[in-house]
Amino acid sequence: MSKIQMTTPLVEMDGDEMTRIIWKQIKDIVLLPFVDLKTEYFDLGLVNRDNTNDQVTIDSANRTKELGVAVKCATITPNAQRMTEYNLKSMWKSPNGTIRAILDGTVFRSPIMVKGISPIVSTWKKPITIARHAYGDVYKNTEIKVPGAGKAELVFTAEDGTVIRETIMDFDAPGIIQGIHNKNKSIESFAKSCFTYALDTKQDLWFATKDTISKKYDHTFKDIFAEVFEAEFKTKFEEAGIEYFYTLIDDAVARIMKCEGGILWACKNYDGDVMSDMLASANGSLAMMTSVLVSPDGKYEYEAAHGTVTRHYYKYLKGETTSTNPMATLFAWTGALRKRAQLDGLADLEAFADKLEKASIETIEEGTITGDLKNLIDCPVKNVVNTEDFLKAIAAKL
Ligand code: NAP
Ligand code: MG
Repeated sequence: MSKIQMTTPLVEMDGDEMTRIIWKQIKDIVLLPFVDLKTEYFDLGLVNRDNTNDQVTIDSANRTKELGVAVKCATITPNAQRMTEYNLKSMWKSPNGTIRAILDGTVFRSPIMVKGISPIVSTWKKPITIARHAYGDVYKNTEIKVPGAGKAELVFTAEDGTVIRETIMDFDAPGIIQGIHNKNKSIESFAKSCFTYALDTKQDLWFATKDTISKKYDHTFKDIFAEVFEAEFKTKFEEAGIEYFYTLIDDAVARIMKCEGGILWACKNYDGDVMSDMLASANGSLAMMTSVLVSPDGKYEYEAAHGTVTRHYYKYLKGETTSTNPMATLFAWTGALRKRAQLDGLADLEAFADKLEKASIETIEEGTITGDLKNLIDCPVKNVVNTEDFLKAIAAKL
């Protein structure tokens, strides 16, 4: 059988621990036998990040800006314990944070839905994708514990010395205050990423804030989304037959619980943090959640939503077989290959990505599963296998 050809390489970002093992298994078992895989390899494993003073992470993100599509394995974000474990020179920053800062993107997360694993919300028939704004608000705040009576003010001093001053509160007793911010440029990038992703996936876009209460802060989000939509996307949305819908955040939450799914839900930073955890747990498992970072100028980085599955890795090192679920990592590969195929006009590569996803979903639906799904899935025969055998079952079906 001749292999499916590629023209432009993917940026391949390898990672750590159990997901690094799975990474190689996916390539060996379900990709390389079928595709003449072209990638530019960057080793983002912690050892190499330390050896290169984290330059490899920066290089891989910059190369993604040039080539347009990357696929990333989960990576360790070092903490004090990892400093000793890996004898690190420095407590390197989160690779995802570094990559996000360079690509200036928005993260989109959606569940992989299979028959037999029903979302807790019974009306959800299709996946709901959350787009989380990843800059500012309460994540970059300044806070004061007010010790006692006094005046709290919000003061802005312009470069020319002009001052804008508002009273927050005349305290007569102890309390608390908080200052937060966002930038128009960042909100605009967020809006563009969301509109682009909705068009790409042909889904309606919902966006919600609390603009009735926050008449300047949240209202600015609403206004910027409306301006970007009018200026660049309205006609494209009409042509694609999809809708942009703005509502209040509480109304959005109520509607989400009654909707069928199949929509993109854009959330401010805090809302996205909270709501994506709700969505993931309502759908069963982090191992069945895909994640993609999309930049406002249309660069894509695909990854799994989970981490490096350290607990399984330590078992693996002891020689025990593990049944780690490779679905999210596999879907990172299919997502990246499909996007590359679409950009390069490679119909057979796009069809391959579709078929591989279909084969993996059918494998699960027919009862061949990894351990994490054992108590989640409702099917007559359950054949719990290790990661390698699970991938081999997918390859056989493919
Ligand atoms: P984790 O790797 O997501 O794993 C947490 C637990 O979730 C696992 O112990 C396992 O539960 C379950 N799990 C996650 N993925 C699974 C899979 N594919 N198949 C089966 N079970 C799965 O989170 P963590 O243990 O908190 O973090 C480990 C490392 O990952 C950390 O160093 C962190 O910095 C890094 N991390 C990286 C990313 C990223 O690169 N995107 C994201 C998050 C965390 P059981 O043990 O009960 O089986
Ligand atoms: Mg959270």
